[in-house]
Amino acid sequence: MPKLLTPDLYVESVYDIDLAALKKRGIDNIITDLDNTLVPWVEKDVNPKLMQWVDSLKSGGFKVCLVSNATEGRVESFRQSMSVPGISKAGKPRNGAFLEAMGILGGASYNTAVIGDQIFTDVLGGNRLGLYTILVVPLSDKEFIGTRLVRLVERFVLRKITKPQSVNN
Ligand SMILES: [Mg+2]
Repeated sequence: MPKLLTPDLYVESVYDIDLAALKKRGIDNIITDLDNTLVPWVEKDVNPKLMQWVDSLKSGGFKVCLVSNATEGRVESFRQSMSVPGISKAGKPRNGAFLEAMGILGGASYNTAVIGDQIFTDVLGGNRLGLYTILVVPLSDKEFIGTRLVRLVERFVLRKITKPQSVNN
């Protein structure tokens, strides 16, 4: 299993991330994916549970930035409702948007985590920069056909790593 494709943490959903444990690791900055990580791909609104999670990040002293390959319009609407900065058309896994987000947050590789649902964009991009990478199970199966093909490869890769952790387990 290539190290660059292996997340540091694999959880069922963002709600299963132990924020206190992240703090203990020295993480202050969160770069998070949007689609299928925070909301299903078709969703247009921030639900109350997500809003509460974003608030708990902020009150926990984390700085948050959305980094998404989605369009400007889509990212902008979530950026506003969540009151966080955001980068659209990020071109993940390329470095550019991750570095830009770290610049916005004032973060460095040792104190920044990346959360996302895709190994080949979120985890690969984060690992290449030495960030703490957190993989979540995708929220929805309704995706671009291209993404669906990548999922097939991901499933093969995921067989080699442990089951996602859930607080409900
Ligand atoms: Mg995603």
